[in-house]
Amino acid sequence: MSKRLGIVVGHMKSSKGAQAVAPISAQEYDWNTDLAERMVAIAKEDYAATKFEAEIFFRNTGGVRGAYGRAKEWGADATIELHFNAHVPAANGTETLYVSAPSKPFAQVVHAATLSALELKDRGIKTPNEASGGRGYQSLVQMGPKPSIITEPFFGSNARDAQAAHAHKNGLARAQIDAAATYLLKPFDNGDDLNWQVKATTLNVRGGPGVEYEKLEWGPLKLGQKVVLIRRRDPWFLIQLGSDGSKTGYVHSDFLV
Ligand SMILES: [Zn+2]
Repeated sequence: MSKRLGIVVGHMKSSKGAQAVAPISAQEYDWNTDLAERMVAIAKEDYAATKFEAEIFFRNTGGVRGAYGRAKEWGADATIELHFNAHVPAANGTETLYVSAPSKPFAQVVHAATLSALELKDRGIKTPNEASGGRGYQSLVQMGPKPSIITEPFFGSNARDAQAAHAHKNGLARAQIDAAATYLLKPFDNGDDLNWQVKATTLNVRGGPGVEYEKLEWGPLKLGQKVVLIRRRDPWFLIQLGSDGSKTGYVHSDFLV
């Protein structure tokens, strides 16, 4: 059976959530419905349906419980609920919310991929209490022990964030699908693990999947350094160093074991 990602669109037709400034000029529900559709299209294009599937669930009927109830019935192995943030104009950056322990590594992987797609300020992965006194908690407990996260990739109220999200919307959709698929498929299908080690004396870390991309300043990595795989762009791996998601970059997979 395939691994299944449930994509829950935040808010409802009748109450669409925060408004984003130009060039987005839309509310959360509408912007994220389109993002969810792009994510499903990418999943269909890039992954065989026998391996990985994504499906959209709305809160319009039955609210949060209705959406997650249908996702569970469908057989979701994990869920991502789509939002964006809004606050004073200066507030900015990417954050990802989780509650349960099994959701934390999933949050880290999707968060790091989101950062790599939008390149906005890293606000980290947080519990709802750490983020804002409980917002999102009700959604995040619906899946029980299965990984369940809320993504807030940018602040719709911040002009620079809105510009980046608008410009890289497809990249964001692809990053989140690739991260979810990598995470869900890894231990089962291709025998790979998320944890790798550098087997070269030194290994350059680059800003993209190719030697034409710049070397990142915090590299090169040394022999034996442990890294976590976030996305495959064979033969390049997007990897993460440490657990806070702040250091991500591409390395050639020939030099990892
Ligand atoms: Zn929201």
